[in-house]
Amino acid sequence: MQQLFNGVFLLEGEVGGRPLQLIYLRGDLASLLMDTGCAHDPSRFIVPQMRELDGDPSHLTWILNTHSDLDHIGGNHEMKQFAPRAVLACGEADRHICESFETLMRYRYDLYRAEHQIFYEGEAVDWLRANAGPPQCIEATFRGNEHIRLGADWEVELLSVPGHSKGHLAVYDPLHKALYGADAIHGRGYPGLDGRMKLCPTYEDVDDDVRGLPLAGEKGLRYSGVLPGIAQFC
Ligand SMILES: [Zn+2]
Repeated sequence: MQQLFNGVFLLEGEVGGRPLQLIYLRGDLASLLMDTGCAHDPSRFIVPQMRELDGDPSHLTWILNTHSDLDHIGGNHEMKQFAPRAVLACGEADRHICESFETLMRYRYDLYRAEHQIFYEGEAVDWLRANAGPPQCIEATFRGNEHIRLGADWEVELLSVPGHSKGHLAVYDPLHKALYGADAIHGRGYPGLDGRMKLCPTYEDVDDDVRGLPLAGEKGLRYSGVLPGIAQFC
């Protein structure tokens, strides 16, 4: 776990030999967890690391699924057991995928079967099922340009950054001049814990993916540095 800024933490886990890094924003008025990892990641590392920071998961205000991938939504059910008062939210266009393993398969991981004859089977499907967790309903959806107040002088803005998924959301944090982009920011691909590249950049819509990040330019910002999934501006 790392502290990025005052009240901004990077919770650190692992999925399939790759780092799984989730942003936890904690202000005086509200708190926001970005993504829930796989089915048992809340008890495996999210909640323990929140508690290390003296954070009480039962006081969590928001859980935001940045997009509809297994390692970002699989822990929704378990996280809601720890944080029953937190509102579980995602991008409007991803909602139908986020709520169960069945819809995740139908609309995301089995999407290329008919047209390209590419699909998961056997042990790979078993792994996906085991890590997807029980169904959990989404309680709020966003389309971008919404604002969430975390403190008296700290407000973040949700941005629509489609491409990796149609409803992908990023969180822009003007107080710290940072964009928490999850899988909307890929660079050359996904490096593993061993430093070797594990996956190429992945996107559902090429045109949207290419357009996704010029939003920084729209805000008159220039990149000063990039961590996986996180851009900071000067
Ligand atoms: Zn993803």
